[in-house]
Amino acid sequence: MNLHEYQGKEVLAGFGVTVQRGVVAATISEALQAGKKITETTGSEWHIVKAQIHAGGRGKGGGVRLAKNINELETIAGDILGMQLITPQTPPEGKKVNQILIAEDVYYPGASEPKEFYMSVLLNRSTGRNMIMYSTEGGMDIEAVADKTPHLIFNEEIDPALGLIPFQARKVAFNLGLSGAAFKDMTKFVSALYRAYVGSDASLFEINPVLKTSDDRIIAVDAKVTIDDNSLFKHKDIESMRDLSEENPVEVEAREVGLNYVDLDGNVGCMVNGAGLAMATMDLIKQSGGEPANFLDVGGTADAARVETAFRLILKDPKVKAILINIFGGIVRCDRVAQGIVDAYKNMGDAVKVPIIVRLQGTNADIAKKIIDTSGFNFLSATAFQEAADRVQEAIS
Ligand code: GDP
Ligand code: MN
Repeated sequence: MNLHEYQGKEVLAGFGVTVQRGVVAATISEALQAGKKITETTGSEWHIVKAQIHAGGRGKGGGVRLAKNINELETIAGDILGMQLITPQTPPEGKKVNQILIAEDVYYPGASEPKEFYMSVLLNRSTGRNMIMYSTEGGMDIEAVADKTPHLIFNEEIDPALGLIPFQARKVAFNLGLSGAAFKDMTKFVSALYRAYVGSDASLFEINPVLKTSDDRIIAVDAKVTIDDNSLFKHKDIESMRDLSEENPVEVEAREVGLNYVDLDGNVGCMVNGAGLAMATMDLIKQSGGEPANFLDVGGTADAARVETAFRLILKDPKVKAILINIFGGIVRCDRVAQGIVDAYKNMGDAVKVPIIVRLQGTNADIAKKIIDTSGFNFLSATAFQEAADRVQEAIS
């Protein structure tokens, strides 16, 4: 589950990470109130107005702007609220901005220049350990840095048994070229950030930029936070931050009925039981010249109601030209699944307009095939994997 920047900062702050302070607003008057409130604590009329959408690169698209007084704040808040923000990470049509974060300006002048760093915490899947990835080249496209000057990106891996050791935090601060008060504050920042990552069961933190202010404080200016969905039962406070308007509506619906569904770009819908078989089926579709339109694991109980729900979800995607049902009857008998498919089809009447390829293998597969073949509906049955692939190919060509 992805969080908005303001929510991510709230989670970080809860674990003692210093963040750029801000107040979220959904209207211009809320934005002005927020601005006044921040000015009371900072004494500055300068604010940064930041579009809250689930995509990065907002600065490049005009979604992050500096306001130097209350009038500018009003104008900029009005410009950004409701705008269709296009960034390198949004779909081509952009994303609508429903909320903005009014934040304190932390790039104020002082004894030294503010300096932007990059820092993320994530799982290194090849070593099975969490790592902190960081660079002196923050604020800009980290992908470009990784591409052109990879030696400027450092990794620090954390032993799961020991956790982050203080010397590792000091190493990060040292490699970032810090000294004095900024060095000390960076070690505190890194420790708190790692504590927050583990404590919130996150799968990704990306803080770009981490700022060294002109008076040597270390602050998270941006926060991209992804929390592991499987841990949300432990974090009701975080789960309640979910913004459904940012999520794929079909995936939201699937989650509500307990189906494991991921929307994809292809033309062949698939309904499968078991994640492994689902992956194999997607490969099969690709081999037969199609592209999977979705990943859908209906799970162990493929009864008529579930099959029908799954059908309806797949058919919401106008790109679907054929549906491949590939179910292994182990715990659930194939004949029951077959009956479920036929009943679902019956219930849906004219809704199904695309060919459906059905492959049922396992307990009572022969009875199942008979049910499918004699149903009188537009089914193509297949027994072998290759046969199913050939039927898919015929259906979409
Ligand atoms: P992103 O473009 O979506 O990654 O959004 P960020 O939150 O990273 O902000 C983009 C850029 O806005 C940063 O790299 C900074 O250069 C700038 N910015 C952010 N906060 C402030 C601030 O308080 N003052 C000033 N002057 N610039 C800021
Ligand atoms: Mn950023």
